Amino acid sequence: MKEFKNDSYTDFSIPENRKKMEEAIKKAESELGKEYPLIIGSEKVTLDEKFKSFNPAEKEQVIGVFQKADKEAGEKAMQKALEVFCDWRFVDAQERAEYLFKAADIMRRKRFEIDAWEILEEGKGWLEADADVAEAIDFLEFYGREMLRYAEEQPLVQISGEKAELFYIPLGVGIVISPWNFPMAILCGMTSAALVTGNTVILKPSSDSPKIGHLFMEILEEAGLPPGVVNYVTGSGSVVGDYLVKHPKTRFITFTGSKEVGLRIVEQAAITREGQKWVKRVVVEMGGKDAIIVDGETNLDSAAEGVVYSAFGFQGQKCSACSRAIVVSKVYDEFLACVAEKTKKLTVGPTKYYENYMGAVINEKAYNSIVSYVEKGKEEGGRLLAGGESAEGNGYFIKPTVIADVKPGDTIEQEEIFGPVLAVIKAKDYDDAIKIANDTDYGLTGAVYTENREKIDKAKKLFHCGNLYFNRKCTGAFVAVHPFGGFNMSGTDSKAGGRDYLLLFLQAKSISEKIG
Ligand code: NAP
Repeated sequence: MKEFKNDSYTDFSIPENRKKMEEAIKKAESELGKEYPLIIGSEKVTLDEKFKSFNPAEKEQVIGVFQKADKEAGEKAMQKALEVFCDWRFVDAQERAEYLFKAADIMRRKRFEIDAWEILEEGKGWLEADADVAEAIDFLEFYGREMLRYAEEQPLVQISGEKAELFYIPLGVGIVISPWNFPMAILCGMTSAALVTGNTVILKPSSDSPKIGHLFMEILEEAGLPPGVVNYVTGSGSVVGDYLVKHPKTRFITFTGSKEVGLRIVEQAAITREGQKWVKRVVVEMGGKDAIIVDGETNLDSAAEGVVYSAFGFQGQKCSACSRAIVVSKVYDEFLACVAEKTKKLTVGPTKYYENYMGAVINEKAYNSIVSYVEKGKEEGGRLLAGGESAEGNGYFIKPTVIADVKPGDTIEQEEIFGPVLAVIKAKDYDDAIKIANDTDYGLTGAVYTENREKIDKAKKLFHCGNLYFNRKCTGAFVAVHPFGGFNMSGTDSKAGGRDYLLLFLQAKSISEKIG
């Protein structure tokens, strides 16, 4: 087996790659509006109630029609997952890992197709879509290898007269609830980790990205994964998601999404219901209010570039996005000028055209929420430096927005906006900057721009976040290089893409036999 290596991104400066992408988008457009069933075992289930997924850059364009699963459909998926678990749990680890490696190969082959659907369904730019698929491939390759490592003989101290062993075994039926913003990577990462460890899964994708979830199911089917190991259930999170979270036969829940929903899941999963034999295991990865600290001893141009890229890539709709630039007073004005200039150069429009760097935000609710945060920022004394208004087009386009003079404790300094809005805060000095950075409920990503080694060491100790970077952007974690997950209200720090991750889906059985 080859050593794990991160998949490389598609180089769209090569005309042939651009042509392939354009063709893939055209092909996806010719397939818009199809209906997709639930997938429960080998059954394709349609229901009376349906919902539509739309293109955020072309409000009326229907991506696909999906089934709105009710409790009955959720129960059917649970029964199937329980049934299939009886055999799947004993399938050899090597065989389980092989399905992931096959799926990775298929994903590589379907790369442009998946990219194209992410561009249409989520409004991702080409590079962002391609990076999401590369990350999904990395998860498959990495977790496959990780499972083989966990299946090896585990080191134990042996005592005389006994033979001690330890095996990692699966938990049972898991509910995977995914967000729309990394529609393939996060969904694939959580699901593949759960299945490769021998669990069966009910996958509930976000109602804003069900098409990408369906593409993932097609890939698993092509890879030959036995039916019922992963069951695809679309529909409202607050109906079928909630039902499955509360279900007494649910053994674990793996969730990535907002703080509000994550905390509700933690609360509901903690209640023991009739017929429940275990304490549910819950992994929740939630929001962020990520900061980049800009110190006086740094190259301001590269700091501004890192901030702009981290704040506005995929319209700021990343849990890792920089929503706060905390700048020491000495270089504050100079930094503002630099950031405003770079921000105004960004192109906004439908991302089916390669030249548009930023696309639409995901839906009307998000658009309204982001606009109201911009107003709130101004009301509380913020100074608009760039953006702050819609961009042209028949979609939810918002110009990249920079609000300066935001004070520590202001609403837009504390709450996750999840859109293209950057708050710039002036700090008295470096120590003050760290204090401001830490003063939110979250603790996901952070970065520091400084050339001073002592200051770097200080931030290593004091800047409290799950993923900390120096002299680079705070987005773009690579599987196995930057295991990803946050502190405090950003989640349970599961460190996706790290060596500890699969343990969340396993339990250790310790066995000892008297010998001699
Ligand atoms: P969301 O609104 O919380 O939804 C996430 C998922 O939860 C969706 O599948 C949703 O289904 C489902 N859901 C909603 N209510 C539910 C309930 N009562 N019970 C069970 N499931 C329920 O989040 P989002 O808008 O998709 O994603 C954006 C958020 O995710 C941001 O806060 C972002 O920071 C966070 N995020 C965090 C990470 C990380 O690693 N920490 C990574 C990516 C994103 P419906 O779509 O049907 O409502």
